Amino acid sequence: MSNHPSTALILLAAGQGTRMSGTRMGGDAPKAYQTIAGRPLLVWALETMAQHPAIGPVVVVHDPDHQAWLQPILQTHRNVIATSGGATRAHSVHQGLKALAPHAPDVVLVHDVARAFMPAVVIEDLLRAVRPGQGAVPSLPVVDTLRHVEGEVIAGDIDRNHCRIIQTPQAFLFDELLAAHDQAADLSAFTDDASVARAAGLRVLAVPGHAHGFKLTYAADRERAEQMLAMASPVPKVGSGFDVHRFGPGDHLWLCGVRLPHSHGLVGHSDADVGLHALTDAILGTIGAGDIGQHFPPTDPKWKGAASDQFVAHACDLLRQAGGRLMNIDLTIIGQRPKIFPHRQAMQARIAQITALPASAINIKATTTEGLGFTGRSEGLAAQCVVQALLPV
Ligand code: MG
Repeated sequence: MSNHPSTALILLAAGQGTRMSGTRMGGDAPKAYQTIAGRPLLVWALETMAQHPAIGPVVVVHDPDHQAWLQPILQTHRNVIATSGGATRAHSVHQGLKALAPHAPDVVLVHDVARAFMPAVVIEDLLRAVRPGQGAVPSLPVVDTLRHVEGEVIAGDIDRNHCRIIQTPQAFLFDELLAAHDQAADLSAFTDDASVARAAGLRVLAVPGHAHGFKLTYAADRERAEQMLAMASPVPKVGSGFDVHRFGPGDHLWLCGVRLPHSHGLVGHSDADVGLHALTDAILGTIGAGDIGQHFPPTDPKWKGAASDQFVAHACDLLRQAGGRLMNIDLTIIGQRPKIFPHRQAMQARIAQITALPASAINIKATTTEGLGFTGRSEGLAAQCVVQALLPV
């Protein structure tokens, strides 16, 4: 496909994953919500695949009984479309395809959450191979010897040169895969999308897959995934931010997303929250994405009086798209008044909500300037912020 086709992603997260739970794994979360290195498998899958620039709409096919695990993830991944799965994998894919129909993508990728660590680079080979009448799947050669067995007895040889291990994501023209599912007589007979497509007469090409795309199935696979992540060792990046707003008439001000009653307000095009502005700039700094003014120009009437939490949320989205992960925030408010200490916990909780960081990773400090300078004369408030993020090499 040329001319930049639009590409959608369906993530299958409805499975129970009973083979993966058990004593070694602990807990009773369904597979998609089991944590690897502290993050649910679904989050890993979302952030590895959905970060690829080709990916547009993302549908997560889930089990409605898993709401308690799914909802917190949707809070921080707001663009995801969630839809309920069906009785089998193919039924679930059918549901996902129907949920995508209003978006009418050119190409659709169907991916198992259990293959959360498949590198997004495979998408390029898949997209190159997809064309009318032809889908593509990632595959690996078989290195072990294969034998046909009857009971426990070896009954025949299989030529491994004609065999491939098939992975996901599996890629097809959207209209063709939807039609293949619509017309299938019995969807429960199929174990993957390529088989549904082939039954509808489509050709499916096997393109190179990746060893990191292995399917997390058994308890030991968690260790393998965590070792792999540890070896991938992301790089720490630091960002800093600084902001000032002057006091003006008013009876309250916004600071770190919290409304504080005060003898003055802060003057600015947006809500003039110096804390969240310094934080936004610091997060942008970790990915070299310029400053808040470039992303939200003060000349744009759209941002007049705007609540600054959306600036922080946008910076967090950009960091996430870069494959990064925020680690901690250290924010200092500089001014004689208002007193910050009584509001520290509320500010910490609000920033935790906006950034999806635990409160323990967010430090709010305050200092006066001993009566010196513009903050000392209570002409305005300043804030500075340092954050650290982990980014892929
Ligand atoms: Mg500002």
